[in-house]
Amino acid sequence: MAVKYIFVTGGVASSLGKGIIAASLGKLLQARGFKVTIQKFDPYINIDPGTLNPYEHGECYVTEDGAETDLDLGHYERFLGMHTSKANNVTTGKVYNTVITKEREGAYLGKTVQIVPHITDEIKRRMLLLGESGEYDIVITEVGGTVGDMESQPFLESIRQLQWELPQDSVCVIHLTLVPYLAAAAELKTKPTQHSVQALQHAGVLPDIIVCRSEKELSEDLRHKMARFCNVKPGCVMQSIDASSIYQVPLNMLAEGLDVKALECLGIKDYPEAELSRLRTFLDRLFNPEHTVHVAVVGKYVELQDSYKSILESFVHAGAANLCKVKVHYVHSEFVDDSNVEEKLGCMDGILVAPGFGERGLEGKIVAIRYAREKGVPFFGICLGMQMAVVEFARDVLGFTDAASSEVSSTTTHPVIDLMESQKSTSVKGGTMRLGAYDCALEEGSLAAKVYGTLQISERHRHRYEFNNKYLAQFEAAGLKASGRNPRTGLVEVVELPEHPFFIATQFHPEYKSTPECPHPIFVSFVKASLDHQQNR
Ligand code: GLN
Repeated sequence: MAVKYIFVTGGVASSLGKGIIAASLGKLLQARGFKVTIQKFDPYINIDPGTLNPYEHGECYVTEDGAETDLDLGHYERFLGMHTSKANNVTTGKVYNTVITKEREGAYLGKTVQIVPHITDEIKRRMLLLGESGEYDIVITEVGGTVGDMESQPFLESIRQLQWELPQDSVCVIHLTLVPYLAAAAELKTKPTQHSVQALQHAGVLPDIIVCRSEKELSEDLRHKMARFCNVKPGCVMQSIDASSIYQVPLNMLAEGLDVKALECLGIKDYPEAELSRLRTFLDRLFNPEHTVHVAVVGKYVELQDSYKSILESFVHAGAANLCKVKVHYVHSEFVDDSNVEEKLGCMDGILVAPGFGERGLEGKIVAIRYAREKGVPFFGICLGMQMAVVEFARDVLGFTDAASSEVSSTTTHPVIDLMESQKSTSVKGGTMRLGAYDCALEEGSLAAKVYGTLQISERHRHRYEFNNKYLAQFEAAGLKASGRNPRTGLVEVVELPEHPFFIATQFHPEYKSTPECPHPIFVSFVKASLDHQQNR
């Protein structure tokens, strides 16, 4: 079968959940036996979101091959249970970078380099790239931003060209819009959708399917009206009602027939029933919890839900695995100190200290970690959370009162967390951290080994600083064990306190690999430990 391409665009408003719709469709097509991948094209000019503050664009997701990407790639991986790569996230910055580099090399000698055809050719090349690998039957491309934005235009123009250039039945365009409910009129309103589709058509792109986000059911009348005004076939206007879990959306879209209509549009007639039993089992566990645990996530980007997206999702997966609702309480690390830590964390069953960068909120993280260590509350530190667990232990147990990470102190006499050797010659900020998957060997008999059930693991990273191995013997003698290390470099990847009921911290980011059908073992064990702590208190 020739490769098929599905494009997902969005209109009316941002944050409608294009990524979830794209991932849900991907899941359904995969469940029908197709080999599917999903890619995201983002209109901003940054080469990647690695240099963005989480407040700008939510979490930066990291792939196995070390790409810093849009958080939607996390949804794709979680829904499809597959790995994405550098090629799955393209930005305007990447496209221009390629074209401008080629221009300097003389690739267009004599020609004026223009948005059409040079930028659009490069966009089209990248849109088709994964399809040409021979690994996939269907490539779904989500276009970031909203139709009508100035910066989305080259992407829409590229889709327009592909609709004509690729063989018949190769392209399906899905447009996601909002159908708002006006309480005063007690009515769902279709006009924003009509305008949004007009904007898409103005760019020469004809949608095949319209998916409408809505708080209320769309009547048949309303669907017909939209089909008529938006030039799509009746039956190709679908609703996506607010769901209680994002993992319910594939089943909702199955009920709407999204996958069947997309396959019809792509001229594919033979396919089996969707095999979704593992997703259904997960949802069944998710919706029927027997317990509730309260977990604090201590971090400084807590005002924006999306900043810790993968961590939150990992708790959803681990909760279902334990038949337990995990109630996450955000605790702003900037406002935690000795005087209020009991009030803020006293009723928590577990404490997670989140990743991060820079000085703001660091001392609050240290206070939270000390509280967890001294009170025997289950603790899980990730990346900066692990680094601060090391600093806390150095200060309070080893007596190095000015211990710090050299990320924030150049004058400390005890840089127990220090810049990695390989980082010392790097001044460029974009894409230069230690990124992506590295092997880690776990210590036999350790909590980490017990949690994973194996001694060889591989996890993803995103950091510049590391545990300073000069201090390792002193830490271990005092009770903080390095239970996971990089087998090649000796870099400390996991620390734990064997004397504590559950105290584990990792330099890597386990949250990037948790999925509903394969919840991450550390999150699963941490939730279990939190439940035990609640019951033993
Ligand atoms: N700022 C720390 C470092 O660069 C931790 C990074 C993180 O938490 N992702 O090493």
